[in-house]
Amino acid sequence: MASECSSDIDIRVYSSNLLGQSDELVLHGGGNTSIKSIVDGEEILYVKGSGWDLVSIQAEGFAPVRMSSLLEMAQMSELSDSDMVSGQKAAMIDTTAPNPSVEAILHALIPYKVIDHTHADAVVTISNSVDGESHIARLYPDFLIVPYVMPGFVLAQRIYEITRDGFDWASCGGIILHNHGIFTFDNDAKASYTKMIDAVSRAEEFLDEYATVELDVIEPIEYDISRLEIDSYIRINQSPLALHYSSQDDLRAKVTRGVLTPEHIIRTKRIPLVLEDDNVEDALERYRDEYIAYFDTYAQDEIMLDPNPKYAVIKGFGVVTFGKTQREADIITDVIAHTMRAVLRADKLGGYQSISISDSFEMEYWELEQAKLK
Ligand SMILES: [Zn+2]
Repeated sequence: MASECSSDIDIRVYSSNLLGQSDELVLHGGGNTSIKSIVDGEEILYVKGSGWDLVSIQAEGFAPVRMSSLLEMAQMSELSDSDMVSGQKAAMIDTTAPNPSVEAILHALIPYKVIDHTHADAVVTISNSVDGESHIARLYPDFLIVPYVMPGFVLAQRIYEITRDGFDWASCGGIILHNHGIFTFDNDAKASYTKMIDAVSRAEEFLDEYATVELDVIEPIEYDISRLEIDSYIRINQSPLALHYSSQDDLRAKVTRGVLTPEHIIRTKRIPLVLEDDNVEDALERYRDEYIAYFDTYAQDEIMLDPNPKYAVIKGFGVVTFGKTQREADIITDVIAHTMRAVLRADKLGGYQSISISDSFEMEYWELEQAKLK
């Protein structure tokens, strides 16, 4: 048994690292993978632990959770995400392992040995366009396609409801979660990986045909960013993409349409500070006021996060990101680079459209994130 388990984990580490190597599939902690194995006669889900990136995850980065407990939780009519997390921790056979991914129950529900989940740019770009539902339905006729719901227990419960009564898994090529990402699965790790690559290639080919973006050469304007005193670390992006993005007409409306995949909101907030001809101090004050108004509209008993922007789009100059550390500023720069490309391509498909403001708030103020503050 032990040897079966360790070879399962080796296989799982290998193809997780492969998926992680492509930042068009997963970025900085995004996505998750799992494998089901037998340990001492009991079925165990080894699922990505939080705090690990797929690109560098090792065997010890996978949390071993009892399948029976996960499947029991899936059937509960109600469960808070905090209780789900403690339930998952209680069901681990090694308490020194990291916390299991919040998608562990969903992984358990899919009756295949190997499960891959990514936030592939190409898939979410199409999904986040005005006609995303019909494009996705046409591209993935053999997939289960699920309208957006909050990740965590609510999503697991939705999948449980859809699939509990004789769902035809054998004919199901994968799962698309609108505005969020994609799952593929198989009993063989290589086959699941290949399904992911094939599915994402379908989306990429579609975008290459209908949504190519020409980046014209733009000389950046001069701008004194020293007035943007927000965090200790900043990074300036003046790539052709950032210059193109920041030079669009009707800039504010174009760049404030929300995140590419929900978990990005934790890093980037829903929208940037937009600077056109405004005075920096006034613009910053307006940003904070609008953030507080957004918080007041949707908050119940949450603790408000820092109301300052995580990045700024400056007309004709480029994108500036802010971080408490250089690493944070770098990560936000990467996330926004992928977002910019997706927004421009989705506009070629008729218009970029992300999750609603209330869904954004729910994600930004997820009880699991709030728990870290309390
Ligand atoms: Zn996800």
